[in-house]
Amino acid sequence: MEIQSFNPPVRTLMGPGPSDVHPRVLAAMSRPTIGHLDPAFVAMMDELKVLLQEVFRTGNPLTLPVSGPGSVGMETCFVNLVEPGDKVIVCRNGVFGGRMKENVERCGGQAVMVEDAWGEPVDPEKLEAALKANPDARLVAFVQAETSTGVESDARALAELAHRHDCLVIVDAVTALGGSPVLVDEWGLDAVYAGTQKCLSCTPGLAPVTFGERAVEAIRLRRTPVQSWFMDLNLVMGYWGGGKRAYHHTAPVNALYALHEALLMVREEGVANAWARHRHNHEALRAGLEAMGIGMLVRPEARLPQLNAVLVPDGVDEAAVRARLLERFNLELGAGLGELAGKVWRIGLMGYASRPENVYTCLTALESVLG
Ligand code: PLP
Repeated sequence: MEIQSFNPPVRTLMGPGPSDVHPRVLAAMSRPTIGHLDPAFVAMMDELKVLLQEVFRTGNPLTLPVSGPGSVGMETCFVNLVEPGDKVIVCRNGVFGGRMKENVERCGGQAVMVEDAWGEPVDPEKLEAALKANPDARLVAFVQAETSTGVESDARALAELAHRHDCLVIVDAVTALGGSPVLVDEWGLDAVYAGTQKCLSCTPGLAPVTFGERAVEAIRLRRTPVQSWFMDLNLVMGYWGGGKRAYHHTAPVNALYALHEALLMVREEGVANAWARHRHNHEALRAGLEAMGIGMLVRPEARLPQLNAVLVPDGVDEAAVRARLLERFNLELGAGLGELAGKVWRIGLMGYASRPENVYTCLTALESVLG
């Protein structure tokens, strides 16, 4: 078998992620690899931490990019905060809440589920009822931006309820960060994980996380050691915690250059301007789709601007449409997941992909393929 260098086709990525990566970020990634304990690299890590604190709107010292995809960020939160026997209230309104349940159970915890329909946000009243019925719960976990349905839940309200009942919160902000407000300090979010491949428009494979004081204290007071060596924050902090950096694992050096550049671009734009841009382009897409007679799954006040769950018109073979869009226009849209498979397209307008020309490309390409 003859094998040559891999040259990927140039696509426009308007699915659920990864999103288009800005050329500046790709260029940063191709700079020479240096040692992960090199003083120049360590100085870059210090800046990276500041940039992450800015995008998370937090002063949390325990803020870092975990080496691994969003799922490793998720596991880092759960393995450090859940101990065997702990009761955790998990809010599920899509695929990613289901993963939180699995995490709790794999940590030996007991998951109490608060269920909402796919396409609806987490209902604070249901959470409150679960908190009242389970006064021994220690944690509440929810997904701020459900990528499987295009729904945003009210992270501020859910965190406030959890705190009133002496619970800490674990928040999935993988699709939220950079596209919608994630105000970690103002909302008092205790442990938050995100991803780089959505609204930060960086390459996939890193998971920004941040832990507040209460979460750090809970980790310090654990009765049992964290069962994961790689994700045990007590050990990771030897490398990321500042001061004298000690070897923990070999950091993904070039991927961290990319994240540094992507976050620098968010800083240059201003994160609040980035939120407004996502909202603006979402409204343009929605208006164009409506003009074509295509509706949205989610009611207006709960819609995520960065992830549009769009109803497939009756009688249309949704997979064939996506295949044609890719083939003719190099345009990637996402399919529905789970119970929404075949019923929706997921159109991402994330990070660098959230641009007026992409809205236009998507609308004209869809119109052409749907005939
Ligand atoms: N959580 C949400 C809401 C996501 O959308 C994703 C990925 O799409 C993940 C978690 C997992 O992230 P990753 O695929 O980077 O592991």
